[in-house]
Amino acid sequence: MDGAALAREVVADAAKRAADLTAATGVTPCLAAVIVGEAPASVTYVRMKQNRARSAGITSRLVALPEPTTTEELVAVIGQLSADPEVHGILLQHPVPAHIDERAAFEAIAPHKDVDGVTMHSFAAMAFGLPGFASATPGGIMRLLDAHGVEPAGQHAVVIGRSAILGKPAGMLLLARNATVTYCHSRTRDLPAITRTADILVAAVGRPEFVRGDWIKPGAAVLDAGYNPGPVGDVAAAEAREVAGLLTPVPGGVGPMTIAVLLAQTVDAASGQRSGSGG
Ligand code: NAP
Repeated sequence: MDGAALAREVVADAAKRAADLTAATGVTPCLAAVIVGEAPASVTYVRMKQNRARSAGITSRLVALPEPTTTEELVAVIGQLSADPEVHGILLQHPVPAHIDERAAFEAIAPHKDVDGVTMHSFAAMAFGLPGFASATPGGIMRLLDAHGVEPAGQHAVVIGRSAILGKPAGMLLLARNATVTYCHSRTRDLPAITRTADILVAAVGRPEFVRGDWIKPGAAVLDAGYNPGPVGDVAAAEAREVAGLLTPVPGGVGPMTIAVLLAQTVDAASGQRSGSGG
């Protein structure tokens, strides 16, 4: 599954919709990215997202806060962006420094500007199968499945990982599309026996080459959300390629789709705020 190619299509569509909106209303979609501290990976991710946004005709605003920023200060900054009519989408780069209450900061994002799908409001919409912004990485996973004709309904989907930004919402989106979903995590017993029954396998663990080839059901669709130094995914790619029906590469699989969904949802937010539907 070529995530880079699909991401180009999704970004091209977002760029066209952004240009149409600007031509029709004079409004240019604006994404505000907030970063706390200078962790090199986070700085790189934010820069990448900003560059992509600009290339899609989306205005990008960066708010870079110093490492000692408190939860209260961060919540206040995000509150200002939430109230700013010129900002349509807000991205808080994860993770924030450990002394900050990340959940409180996420919740300061107005739901109609939550284009990264991190608030409880967006989470509930995903859980209830209602319209709303998907968490960006799980949203990218669903688009990859759709683009490759994988219909989740009735299939056994196994998600390894249960983080709030990735594993849990990935399972919720698959459930909303009528897959039978099993979540696995660090306390799961005999993980390979479970993954071998997966028609759709999502790896969101954060451990390089954790999923081995003999853990995979022949013909399964394997979505490797892992991004470990190298870069290397959470799936042993050379082994998996021999068994899986579909496999996302690392790099060039789930990662580019995450940014593409973020940008598409920023344009959705700008259109929604312009028409008064609130995103
Ligand atoms: P995370 O918050 O650290 O969560 C990791 C999950 O894996 C946890 O639920 C954990 O279980 C589970 N786990 C850890 N060791 C395990 C084991 N031995 N067996 C089974 N489950 C195990 O990580 P995350 O933020 O979800 O990220 C996961 C990966 O995705 C990372 O490689 C990250 O870099 C990547 N990522 C990629 C993108 C992208 O755009 N492509 C975006 C975000 C993250 P417990 O809950 O029991 O601890």
